[in-house]
Amino acid sequence: MTRLSRRIFVLGGLVTAGVAVTPRQGARAAVPYPFKLGVASGDPAPDSVVLWTRLAPSPLNADGQGGMANADVTVEWQVSTTDRFTSLVASGSVVARYADAHSVHAIAGGLAADSDYYYRFRAQGQISPVGRTRTAPAPSSFGRDLVMAFASCAHYEAGYYTAYRRMAEDNPGLILHLGDYIYEGGVGTSTVRQHVGAEIVTLADYRRRYALYKSDPDLQAAHAAAPWLVVPDDHEVENNYANMVRNDSSPTLTAAQWTARRTAAYRAYYENMPLRPASAASGNSIPLYRRVRWGQLATFHMLDTRQFRDDQACGDGWKVCADADLASRSLTGATQEAWLLDGLAQRYGTWDILGQQVFFAQQLDANGAASMDAWDGYRASRSRIQTGWQQRGVRNPLVLTGDVHRSWANDLKADYANPSSATIGTELVCTSISSTGNGSGSTTVPNAAANPHLKFYSDRRGYVRTTISRSQVRADFRAVNTVTEHGAAASTVRSFVILDGQPGLQAG
Ligand code: FE
Ligand code: CA
Repeated sequence: MTRLSRRIFVLGGLVTAGVAVTPRQGARAAVPYPFKLGVASGDPAPDSVVLWTRLAPSPLNADGQGGMANADVTVEWQVSTTDRFTSLVASGSVVARYADAHSVHAIAGGLAADSDYYYRFRAQGQISPVGRTRTAPAPSSFGRDLVMAFASCAHYEAGYYTAYRRMAEDNPGLILHLGDYIYEGGVGTSTVRQHVGAEIVTLADYRRRYALYKSDPDLQAAHAAAPWLVVPDDHEVENNYANMVRNDSSPTLTAAQWTARRTAAYRAYYENMPLRPASAASGNSIPLYRRVRWGQLATFHMLDTRQFRDDQACGDGWKVCADADLASRSLTGATQEAWLLDGLAQRYGTWDILGQQVFFAQQLDANGAASMDAWDGYRASRSRIQTGWQQRGVRNPLVLTGDVHRSWANDLKADYANPSSATIGTELVCTSISSTGNGSGSTTVPNAAANPHLKFYSDRRGYVRTTISRSQVRADFRAVNTVTEHGAAASTVRSFVILDGQPGLQAG
């Protein structure tokens, strides 16, 4: 660190986002730029937010260490009300450990509620790109209306991350990611761009895979635009796994090797996400389901529907399956279910938003079969939660979903077999960022006759942009026409509103 660059970092005003400070001539040669994975923030509270980065000057090194030497490195961070850092409201330093792949999770505290901030890091004489973040409103306050975007499923090989870029350009106050942030497979054929390395199994593999994904500038822009609330789905570990039961047989793994793989995957997930230290993995488990309160406006109940679920019924896939109705079956596990219902009973905010992974509403195909990987494979579990929120007088339950690589908007029904039964909640399903490629553009709801409560479908890549106010949630289904070429514009395929006290979709 030269005196000049130190002075710039302390005083601000001379450094633009993403530009490293070069030491003066004659000073020690600059180390390779270590902030190639960008910056992120997450899990806002009224007075704090977690700031994330990971030092990796050579992101794709096979050892997963990103080109960093086997030594711990001090990383400084700053928070300011301006992107020129002319005055600091918080700052500190943390040690990025080699043992943690030089990932950083710094809590920036002492912040004002419902406020916008900028942050950056410095390490090894270099300054990171600047990120924007914000805090939640105070518990007693509604705060400003909130633009919240949510997304899932970003297979790197299937397309470019244009939708992440467009999401960033919407200037949201909060972004939810509902899983399949990475995919675990090896190098595919006939793809837009390619994974590096074979199917990921070891901790080094998972770290390198995150580094590949996080090298993408569009993803970095989305992280830098707003704080994120993240939960994983299956592909952060392996396709359609259910707790300790694998769905795949390739690669062949012993029970001990599978346990080690899940341990590695959860560790790498924490290392690479803007999660608070309370969400750090502990051996073969990771505490991820959590509540983030947004004042009187909303409460985000972030769920984990992989780690504790019973195995998929009838061998997974689309099935007509009596076992799917067994009362003993659970998608969340009993502890998480009780935690969710207890939290819903508090009615902290106007909108109780469940951020979760798999399709919640009933969805039948023409033969009456349903997806055993989704809530349809755990019907008693779904029923306990729906009945639970009805019994607790939850005014505005809103379920957010990823996983299926298509957009859907659904009314949730007291009795899915009876279309005239009460609508007791609403579900918004985001399409994928890139997974499965460009899509057909169809907006015809599949098997509509069997699913009259499923109101909207679209087969394009994109995200959902919501605007949350006291009186309504507006949802804009945003889509890009191509992900196999860079630079597509995003447009709104359809909009809905959900009115306070009136579950279900209205034309928007
Ligand atoms: Fe996916
Ligand atoms: Ca999935």
